[in-house]
Amino acid sequence: MEFEALGKLSSCGTIPPQLHRKEPRVSELNQLAHEINICQRCRLAKTRTCAVPGEGRSDAPVLLIGEGPGYYEDQQGRPFIGASGKLLTRLLQCVGLTRQDVFITNVVKCRPPDNRDPLPDEIAACRPFLDRQLALIGPTLVVTLGRYSMARFLTGQTITRIHGQRVPMDDFTCVPMFHPAAALRNPQWMAAIQQDFAALAPLLAELYPQHPVLAAAETASRAAQQTTWL
Ligand code: SF4
Repeated sequence: MEFEALGKLSSCGTIPPQLHRKEPRVSELNQLAHEINICQRCRLAKTRTCAVPGEGRSDAPVLLIGEGPGYYEDQQGRPFIGASGKLLTRLLQCVGLTRQDVFITNVVKCRPPDNRDPLPDEIAACRPFLDRQLALIGPTLVVTLGRYSMARFLTGQTITRIHGQRVPMDDFTCVPMFHPAAALRNPQWMAAIQQDFAALAPLLAELYPQHPVLAAAETASRAAQQTTWL
């Protein structure tokens, strides 16, 4: 399938590169990105440079949800483009996926000042945007990155206990993982996130037995599990 950037939406970056198809959810996702870019619902609007709606396939089988934009994301309006983003890209590559195969977004779409944790009222204010992305994309698998995105779906859990586990939800399977930034700070969590990502490929092949990209991913994952990197 061909991908094509749909054009500039604002000075903060391009509209997320989605499949260029005349499909309602593409235009709805772009409309949603526009609403996020001009949103004033919480205090983070006052300190952001750019909002970061998210990017990827409009029909992505996998939705990855981080916590909030960092410095570089805030500057460019794109998710996971700093050191954490480089790690995330490598983790995806290890299971044969590219960023264009998935959709990547965050719990809050604007950067909390000094990279502090998002506050409960900010998460609540931003929640309708994430809910609409989830409904429009309709992923089979949701990977939460970090405790705040895990808490969106799984309450009363700790990430150290349930990371990497498959949790069936009504419409998709949720797999909580450590945030790549946390993995970069802690070698133990780095090993855990690598292992958790490698375990995604057989799950995807199971969920999508006919999908050529994901079948290739399982093969790549087996190779990755035998490779030491980072
Ligand atoms: S974080 Fe979400 S709710 Fe707050 S201003 Fe940004 S887009 Fe709006």
